[in-house]
Amino acid sequence: MKLTGNLLIGAHEIPATEGTLKALNPATNQFIEPDFALGGVAQVDQAAILADEAFDAYSHTSLAERSAFLERIADNLDAASTALAARASLETGLPEAQLQGEAAKAATQFRQFADVVRKGRFLQLAIDPAQPERQPRPRMDHRLQKIAIGPVAIFGASNFPISYSVAGGDTASALAAGATVVLKAHNAHPGASEIQARAIRQAVQDSGLPEGVFSMVRGSGNAIGEALVDHPLIKAVTFTGSEQGGMALYRRAQLRPEPIPVFTEMTSVNPTFILPLALAERGASIGDGFAERMLVNVGQACLKPAILIAIEGPGFTALRAAMIKRVTEAAARPMLTPGIHAAYVSGLDHLQNVGATQVAAGLAAHGDLDGQSALLEVDGQRFLSETALAHEVFGPAALLVKVRDEAEMLAVARTLRGQLSAAMHLEAGDLGLAQRLLPVLERRTGRIVVNAFAHPQEVSFATIHGGPFPASSDSRFTSVGMTSIERFLRPVSYQGFPDALLPEALRESNPLGVPRSVDGQ
Ligand code: NAP
Repeated sequence: MKLTGNLLIGAHEIPATEGTLKALNPATNQFIEPDFALGGVAQVDQAAILADEAFDAYSHTSLAERSAFLERIADNLDAASTALAARASLETGLPEAQLQGEAAKAATQFRQFADVVRKGRFLQLAIDPAQPERQPRPRMDHRLQKIAIGPVAIFGASNFPISYSVAGGDTASALAAGATVVLKAHNAHPGASEIQARAIRQAVQDSGLPEGVFSMVRGSGNAIGEALVDHPLIKAVTFTGSEQGGMALYRRAQLRPEPIPVFTEMTSVNPTFILPLALAERGASIGDGFAERMLVNVGQACLKPAILIAIEGPGFTALRAAMIKRVTEAAARPMLTPGIHAAYVSGLDHLQNVGATQVAAGLAAHGDLDGQSALLEVDGQRFLSETALAHEVFGPAALLVKVRDEAEMLAVARTLRGQLSAAMHLEAGDLGLAQRLLPVLERRTGRIVVNAFAHPQEVSFATIHGGPFPASSDSRFTSVGMTSIERFLRPVSYQGFPDALLPEALRESNPLGVPRSVDGQ
């Protein structure tokens, strides 16, 4: 596929208005062709107006039409997957085979959401029929369904250039809800973004939908990112990235004349607790498994297990030795961007400045942007006295926290900020401690895993990829999984409506056959 580098606003091809950028190949630290257009406030405005104009028609598409549209996107992604994985690999330094898997996952997510839409349960239909005889006051007929929140702005993430980017779960769930989308492409992978945007745009055209259902803009965060969040026609925002960036956008949205929800997914160290009997029986294999997961995606994963907490005792030496071995043997691999590489290097320095000791280093870096793996260690007392030790360092590094006893393990758990996930490795005899740890972890995490690691993750109905701040800005929602659609829905109650005026899903004969609650049953 020939890349034009244009902004794709509705059906329009918009050339640069604010200069251009080239993608950087992090493996070679060389720029690659072609030039990609950067836009500004006027392009955000154009895309938001089109999204608003398209909203009424798109949000009222039938469930069958909308699910067919989502399946068309999936088919187009499949058709583009080879070119997409090749380009994404050049722009991220991640292996092409892994990115083929990501492209397949993205297409699968669209198919999963097509199924969610077809079944219609996300509408959460509820009917409280009229009770004209009720005393002391008759009750009118009330019927509720969820509708799309409005046009939404989505910030593509840098670290999974397909499944969390243009054609990622945010876009799939927003389109499934009936929202129209203005997407800010991440500047780290502009070519991969264009391929995905064209796959979506083609499906819009082939489905006969209004052009404003989907647009992709590109530019600096300060220029177009802020303009998107400020735009009065945008009614919700999703973001995956740094805590600093996410919170800047969140605060900005609350200062608008009309505040809007901002769903950010920001930072998590995914603490992993090794309980004493599991440590004694399986210390080496847990240590090896942890380090293996920590290195996935060069440690640039939101679910990277970054902190391991274990009580010094039988099995600890084997656990530590296995972690050191895996880290020492790890090749240095290119990180996504110069900024992320620099933040990794300074983050490692910072951990050491605040009391951690580096106990293993991976194989030496060859390329300028290669991330050399690292294992650091600290004792429980120091960890408890220095909050900076619990902050994420995005990259192939982890911190081993050696605690004295169960009480210190629980104290460490209580100091943690909000997390996407936590894991406990345990044997049957560890259940007592696990039961004491569980409520501490429930208050701090969106997902708790036993005898496994949080990464990789299923995309399913019971998936939660969110958690208390700073893992996300709203712990009531998930950014991955089928219920992520709820971020883009709001309830509307229709009271005393004649049947012919009701939305189809709420009519008396239930023509869509979607399950409905009646009087709460
Ligand atoms: P980022 O700097 O937060 O940027 C993400 C996106 O938001 C970019 O499109 C960026 O635009 C935009 N943006 C950031 N700050 C903004 C602001 N104040 N106003 C408007 N737009 C803004 O994230 P990143 O580039 O992906 O990586 C940087 C760091 O983020 C990493 O080192 C890591 O710590 C963290 N990160 C975490 C996760 C996770 O899942 N936990 C994932 C990815 C990254 P510009 O490109 O123009 O700045």
